[in-house]
Amino acid sequence: MTSCGKDWAVGLIAAIKDSKNHVISSDIAVVIPDKYPKAKHHYLVLPKGDIPDIFHLKLSNLPMLQELYLLAQNVIEVKRCHMDDFQIGFHAQPSMQRLHLHVISKDFVSDCLKTKKHWASFNTELFLPYQDAYARLEMEGCIKPLAKERVQELGGSELICNQCEFVAKNMPDLKRHLYDHWMEKQ
Ligand code: AMP
Ligand code: ZN
Repeated sequence: MTSCGKDWAVGLIAAIKDSKNHVISSDIAVVIPDKYPKAKHHYLVLPKGDIPDIFHLKLSNLPMLQELYLLAQNVIEVKRCHMDDFQIGFHAQPSMQRLHLHVISKDFVSDCLKTKKHWASFNTELFLPYQDAYARLEMEGCIKPLAKERVQELGGSELICNQCEFVAKNMPDLKRHLYDHWMEKQ
């Protein structure tokens, strides 16, 4: 039992203990595939050290963050993909323990992408790009959570395509549209 009483919330800690899950690793961090990928490529970069989330980061963690980003770039290379096709960042309101950097392709074509909340978590202020997180930590010495009301508001945002001006009526509509973008590129 964890301090917050949610066993599922420590699933990532269990996942990184099994080296079979490691796509790549270094002395201080590992990359694993996201178990419920929200796009064609979706990886998580986690430090081996016990840092629960972005809200526990301190100035002294800046070099560790750089290492996470280096591994994020490495996994994109290893998968023979291009940086421009990816977004790299943290969820501003994470649900799982152990700090994790998302490395996700921008197609968002996946059966696991189901809810408006999923979409918003990568395509609104709920997604904190690595560079912004780094800059905020460097300037302010910590990263603070968004207000609860703001998180709720963002979770219900309009479904605006990340590749054009299209506004979808609902998730099935958005998913069809994203699939068409992806097909055009094949
Ligand atoms: P969040 O805490 O919101 O940044 O997201 C946690 C991420 O972990 C989600 O993208 C999940 O799909 C992913 N996930 C949940 N359980 C596991 C697991 N056991 N192994 C790998 N990824 C997981
Ligand atoms: Zn579009």
